[in-house]
Amino acid sequence: MGNGGHHGMLGVALAQLDAVVERLMLDPGIHKRLRQPQRSLIVSVPTLMEDGRLEVFTGYRVQHDLTMGPTKGGIRYHPGVNLGEMTALAMLMTWKCALMGLPYGGAKGGVCCDATRMSPVELERMTRRFTSEIIGIIGPDRDIPAPDMYTNEQVMAWMMDTYSMQRGITTPGVVTGKPLLLGGSLGRREATGRGVYYILKAAAKEYGLPFKRAKVVVQGFGNVGSVAARLLHEDDCSVVAVSDHAGGIYNPKGLDIPRLVVECADEGSISHHRDGDRITNRELLELECDVLIPAATEGQITEKNADRVRARIVAEGANGPTTPEADKIFAAKGVAVLPDILANAGGVTVSYFEWVQDLQQYFWHEYEINERLSEVMTAAFQRVLALSRKEQVDLRTAALMLGVSRVAEAKKLRGLYP
Ligand code: NAD
Repeated sequence: MGNGGHHGMLGVALAQLDAVVERLMLDPGIHKRLRQPQRSLIVSVPTLMEDGRLEVFTGYRVQHDLTMGPTKGGIRYHPGVNLGEMTALAMLMTWKCALMGLPYGGAKGGVCCDATRMSPVELERMTRRFTSEIIGIIGPDRDIPAPDMYTNEQVMAWMMDTYSMQRGITTPGVVTGKPLLLGGSLGRREATGRGVYYILKAAAKEYGLPFKRAKVVVQGFGNVGSVAARLLHEDDCSVVAVSDHAGGIYNPKGLDIPRLVVECADEGSISHHRDGDRITNRELLELECDVLIPAATEGQITEKNADRVRARIVAEGANGPTTPEADKIFAAKGVAVLPDILANAGGVTVSYFEWVQDLQQYFWHEYEINERLSEVMTAAFQRVLALSRKEQVDLRTAALMLGVSRVAEAKKLRGLYP
């Protein structure tokens, strides 16, 4: 397997791992094991399209580490999906679960396709065939998928149904992020955005940034970005710009986020919003603000634009939005980056709550879920902050050190089989 080249996401994930391993002085054998995913599966997904054509999509499921339990990670439908990207994202999930203290390793999966141009019928057929093709390696005690870019509760319901029909047993615990009626959890849909909000609240307090009227810019108005924007808006922050794939909207006086949420649900995009100026995604990232939340996709802030970012805090809602070169520029400028494996870990944390509820068939109140999420996120932030101060490293390095060292320790305890 190639390593995705120097610029690919996998190259970045491996370089981050190598640097952290060196700092932690880990055993070279364990280092080698952590660099490779435990399992990768590539499947063909033949799908009958509505115009009668047959299309064959390529699907992936990568399980990076199974040392501490089943694997966990999202399913992405996007034209950029490939083995390198899936492997990098699976690896990030391993560190994220370990950092948060969840009994999982990391996985990621997806299908290379343009879901925005597919009908619901086509999406359902593709999802069911993809699920059948990977059915041997998923399951509530093996690997538990969840939503990611361009997948949602409905896609999870189709996956759960396909798995359950083939096994002959209704199995809610095979996926998380399901509809409530099928064993989903209260608060799961909002969990990632809510987690970003909790981490930001803790960080703002730490860095002496007044939360009231803080200027916030959000890239990506999907599940993660729209929820983070709404909660910050409700807490009296001024969300001055948001965007989606079609571009952004900017209003220095603050946007009406609840209205944008409704418009986006009705029209599938925010691009018809009138109350502000149209800007590009590139311009949006360079707006003057207190908090920038990249919540769209990877590789958005690089050595090309990082020096023009005028935020005090960057909270990574997306996975891998900041490149290592951009990290260096931010460190020199004194911009605090709240790293993905910490800032967006609210999703997998409430996915864990959902899985526990499914296994016990006992469901919690929403306030219990949000309270426990807040506790887990705030405690993780404090652990990361403390280590970053002790070791004189940025928050990303500290978060990776905590995650990687836990997995390495677990591997050492289990030893090598046979
Ligand atoms: P989503 O599909 O709900 O929303 C994605 C949003 O980004 C949409 O508004 C889309 O229009 C926009 N977008 C896509 N490409 C863009 C581009 N090139 N420039 C600007 N905007 C673009 O997806 P989501 O679930 O909100 O995921 C967003 C990010 O958060 C991804 O990186 C994902 O891996 C990460 N994430 C999601 C979860 C989760 O629970 N959903 C958890 C952790 C991390």
